[in-house]
Amino acid sequence: TEVVSRNFIENIIDQDIEEGHCKKVVTRFPPEPNGYLHIGHAKSILLNSGLAEEYNGTFHLRFDDTNPMKEKTEFVDSIMEDVKWICGDLDPAQVYYASDYFDQMYECAVKLIKKGKAYVCDLTADEIREYRGTLTEPGKDSPYRERSVEENLDLFERMKNDEFQDGEKVLRAKIDMASPNINMRDPIIYRVAHMNHHNTGDKWCIYPMYDFAHPIEDAIEGISHSICTLEFEDHRPLYDWVVRELEFENPPKQIEFSKLYLTNVVTGKRYIKKLVEENIVDGWDDPRLVSIAALRRRGFTPESIRKFMELCGVSKSQSSVDYAMLEYCIREDLKLKRPRMMAVLDPIKLVITNYPENEIEYLDVSNNQENEEMGTRKVPFGRELYIDREDFMIEPPRKYFRLYPGNEVRLMNAYFVTCTDYATDEEGNVTEVYCTYDPETKSGSGFNARKVKGTIHWVCADTAQQAEVRLYENIIDEDKGVYNEDGSLNLNPNSLTIMEHCYVEPALAEAEKAESFQFVRHGYFCVDSKDSSRDHLVFNRIVSLKSSYRP
Ligand code: ATP
Ligand code: MG
Ligand code: MG
Repeated sequence: TEVVSRNFIENIIDQDIEEGHCKKVVTRFPPEPNGYLHIGHAKSILLNSGLAEEYNGTFHLRFDDTNPMKEKTEFVDSIMEDVKWICGDLDPAQVYYASDYFDQMYECAVKLIKKGKAYVCDLTADEIREYRGTLTEPGKDSPYRERSVEENLDLFERMKNDEFQDGEKVLRAKIDMASPNINMRDPIIYRVAHMNHHNTGDKWCIYPMYDFAHPIEDAIEGISHSICTLEFEDHRPLYDWVVRELEFENPPKQIEFSKLYLTNVVTGKRYIKKLVEENIVDGWDDPRLVSIAALRRRGFTPESIRKFMELCGVSKSQSSVDYAMLEYCIREDLKLKRPRMMAVLDPIKLVITNYPENEIEYLDVSNNQENEEMGTRKVPFGRELYIDREDFMIEPPRKYFRLYPGNEVRLMNAYFVTCTDYATDEEGNVTEVYCTYDPETKSGSGFNARKVKGTIHWVCADTAQQAEVRLYENIIDEDKGVYNEDGSLNLNPNSLTIMEHCYVEPALAEAEKAESFQFVRHGYFCVDSKDSSRDHLVFNRIVSLKSSYRP
């Protein structure tokens, strides 16, 4: 069997199992439904679902919807779709909503009050901040800290019963105002907020704070390992305090890992919002972005994202990964799985003057030369074809082996042709190229009397299908600087090129939304799931064939 080095989280889990602290591995991905998921979230999804699978445990998708201020149902739906796309279908029993625990959270707060571990505080938000102290100075006790249990119980119930305004009173954990960890200086655990909640409506006018709610959610669900990103490391003592004081059996253990950062893409929500509002990108799923919806629309596969996360690894050290590595992963994934088709993006006509008029022949073409199992297809060939403009030159430089007057090349999967002439418009642009073909040289016939150095692709003009093709580059180039002097993003003006009059093989007319292909010599492409239709085919380039990235 293969020896795989275990990541630090697996080492912790192994030890917890060995020492008997963990009977069953239960993990969760806990997004706040306040925005679209991005590639960073995919890392967390795959890490958590992967561990559950590895240890024969369970994985939960939990909507962390305890803050009614920013949450929307729209995001619940998009997150559900994205998570299913990344890690496969979920059983409804794996899907949880933190807001379903509001009653239990309330009871937990009451329990803390009864233990003398929480109190209602009347200080204003500013005063609380002032009393909290700084990294170098201890905090000061609130004058309300010594309220009796009875008074606290009464006030907290009245907070719940809508007797106070927003901000008038909060419930605080009673821990230690002199703790070197500021998170432990009597953190707020409940606040008054008159807001409608997407799940519970107007039932509550008090809501729990994240640091109180999250460990309770984990404990209620029997999460064994609560995996989060490094910014929560300083919150772990509070997490442990909450589950200990509430006396949960088998309390969950928080483990932090470092976030995934990608270079040459825009990830900041603030910037993406601006790009969307200014119509620089076509929504949150613009194929140049790295939201999960954008990656899906661009043509990435869940397998390629999984492969990418494996290459990234899991650690506690911060580093960023280049977008080129993600491109490498999708190329590797599609290489043997997708048919290789011919598409002409910038067409000029090629006329074979010695080929019979009004005749179409159907050539047998292998779907994928590296994977014969994919079989063959019939590709029409005739007297008039389209070829890509860059495959013909009137006066070629040295080492140009494609078409030019007098030169012979192979038309891929078809015949050798020799260029005899060409036509131009008034501005000197080539409009047509004329050739003769040699019937003896048909592909697969075994002809080897002479060789040619160049092979070019083509599409039969009579049967060609028109298409629009969108070519992408990175939206920012970090080598040239991410920001301009005024703080705005230094955007690559060539991040999108639209080729409006492309011709593709007729077989592609049947392509389904999101289906992907290799277009020989051009890269991998997928049908745009938003803009493509039977009447107007639109393909996105997922990735070109060549890359600078070496694994
Ligand atoms: P963002 O602000 O980028 O949306 P977030 O932390 O607000 O991220 P949450 O909805 O709270 O998003 O995140 C759900 C989970 O995804 C959390 O456990 C969080 O740690 C994890 N996560 C978020 N961003 C990344 C990232 N870049 N890499 C790995 N995990 C991440
Ligand atoms: Mg978020
Ligand atoms: Mg968050």
